Amino acid sequence: MAGMKSAVPPSFPPMQPSSSQPAASDTPATPACERCLELAADPRRREPPACLALRGTAPLVRQSAAGVPFSMMTFACRDCGTVWRLYDRANELFVSWVPERPLVR
Ligand SMILES: [Zn+2]
Repeated sequence: MAGMKSAVPPSFPPMQPSSSQPAASDTPATPACERCLELAADPRRREPPACLALRGTAPLVRQSAAGVPFSMMTFACRDCGTVWRLYDRANELFVSWVPERPLVR
């Protein structure tokens, strides 16, 4: 058989995945400031930390699936930009602070 050529390695590299960056590249997360971390550790207190500024005007009033009305207010931190939602349910002693996205240390 004369048709056998010497095996020349292909000059092009094998197929590589073109995306070398991780999928989670939304926006570079800003580390949460100390007060936001404290709030995350104690999300039931009513007093917002001094760094939080109320966004919008009137609180949204909704009803939960169980029919319990609650209000929601949105705050944004002036220091680290973390957006917080304050949920205040009727007849509840405590509120709950929920960050819009997980805090980054
Ligand atoms: Zn903050």
